[in-house]
Amino acid sequence: MTARPDQIALLANAAVPAFKCPPEQRCISSILEPYKSMSLENKRRDLMVLSALIDYPGVGLILFETGCAEDIDVKWGAPITDIFPRTQYRENQKLPAAIKETGNNIEDVKAVIMGHLHLDHAGGLEHFIGTDVPIYTHEEEFKHACWAVATGADLGVYMGHYIDLEKLNWKTFNESTLDLFQGISIHHLPGHTPGLCGLQINLENDGTFIWTTGQFHVRENYDLGQPHGGLARDHNAWYRSLSLVRRLQRLFNAKLIFGHDKEVGMCYKLAKEYYE
Ligand SMILES: [Zn+2]
Repeated sequence: MTARPDQIALLANAAVPAFKCPPEQRCISSILEPYKSMSLENKRRDLMVLSALIDYPGVGLILFETGCAEDIDVKWGAPITDIFPRTQYRENQKLPAAIKETGNNIEDVKAVIMGHLHLDHAGGLEHFIGTDVPIYTHEEEFKHACWAVATGADLGVYMGHYIDLEKLNWKTFNESTLDLFQGISIHHLPGHTPGLCGLQINLENDGTFIWTTGQFHVRENYDLGQPHGGLARDHNAWYRSLSLVRRLQRLFNAKLIFGHDKEVGMCYKLAKEYYE
């Protein structure tokens, strides 16, 4: 069938119509105005960095996390030292001295378990460089930390000075729950970081403790179910990890020790010399 000349002219001028709003449509101007800034009150609170030393029969000393590097002015430098200022650091708070104060020696530590590899938890690995002490960390955390430092993608919270690939005896695992020793379980709790792990210890007399490391910096993260803003890398994973910790807490009637909650940490530290 052949098109007539008037049809050809019509087709030549055809275009996709730009649909217009109905005549009565009005734009509501207020939605185009900039958001009014909300006045938020900034508050400061003292936090703490903590480690746990476990004297395990037949194995020896096991250390959970290691705190910061001793010389953060050199190892971190500004602006990180401005963002995370160290307000108190007595001689007996340095890792070797703190272990000494318990009647033990850092040279006798047989294993280190890392909850995650951020600078304020893993900087103290500097004391284990050149030793054979196994450093247990989740495979996801180790890979992420290496990538973060090497590419600069998440540099600042991870640093290269303690992620020594040749002079630390890294031991990785990728189970979601690992019973490393009888009564000591490591739970993968991603969210704050991809490979963060909490440590559960079932003590004979004092019951179950769970160290949550950075999954919850302070009690309110756990109690209110509030992740820590930009310091949570994966919010969906964080909420799933929150559910797991709440379930474990209920099942074992566990006492929780949060990553940086000074009030909770000091309460347990001052109540007893040790737990058994
Ligand atoms: Zn952290």
